Amino acid sequence: MSIAQNLAHIRQRIADACDLAGRPRDSVHLVAVSKTHPADSVVEALAAGQTLFGENRVQEAAQKFPTLRAGHPAMRLHIIGGLQTNKARDAVRLADVIESLDRPKLAEAIAAAMEKEGRRPDLLIQVNTGAEPQKNGVGREDADDFIRHCREGLGLPVIGLMCIPPAGEEPRPHFAWLAECAARHGLGTVSMGMSGDFEAAIREGATHVRVGTAIFGHRDYPV
Ligand SMILES: *Cc1c(COP(=O)(O)O)cnc(C)c1O
Repeated sequence: MSIAQNLAHIRQRIADACDLAGRPRDSVHLVAVSKTHPADSVVEALAAGQTLFGENRVQEAAQKFPTLRAGHPAMRLHIIGGLQTNKARDAVRLADVIESLDRPKLAEAIAAAMEKEGRRPDLLIQVNTGAEPQKNGVGREDADDFIRHCREGLGLPVIGLMCIPPAGEEPRPHFAWLAECAARHGLGTVSMGMSGDFEAAIREGATHVRVGTAIFGHRDYPV
């Protein structure tokens, strides 16, 4: 299957999941996760009408995207991976949305980077809904305070929440929790669901699903 065929298939599954959930089909956005795949694959996806992409490493995004973007002004980039504070400035310069804001030090670094760059990408706060020690994200119990701190304390443009449920666990309660937390804070963007579980995420209210493998194929090396 080509990338164009995969994309068509995923778009159809998203539309079906929206229908099933009684949601408008345009209420869910597909973030095509191109990490580890070459710029040529991104070009193929662009040719198939995909404009929204996700990368989890700033350095890789910096190598792939600026050149492509010059020829495709509609292209949008979400940074979806764990972010070191010393990469905040590059992320602010490159991204349209940073989905992985998860701690006060990073929030401060992003705020400072926005000042310096004169650019304010939208932000999502990542919640570690499964309390997994190896995973990024603010804990459920700290989410309310952290959301308020970022928005009211630092004046950051937080527009929503993101999560990655624990592998091998039923994801729906995690999705439901995230959507509920976003609603409680009046946040309209909920990024959840990947190749294996995006339909369940749509049922629970995802506005953005992040799909990599099902579009671009298996990654040659883990990230
Ligand atoms: C890699 C990645 C994805 C995509 O995962 P697939 O299972 O390949 O669809 C989604 N979100 C994040 C944060 C990722 O790092």
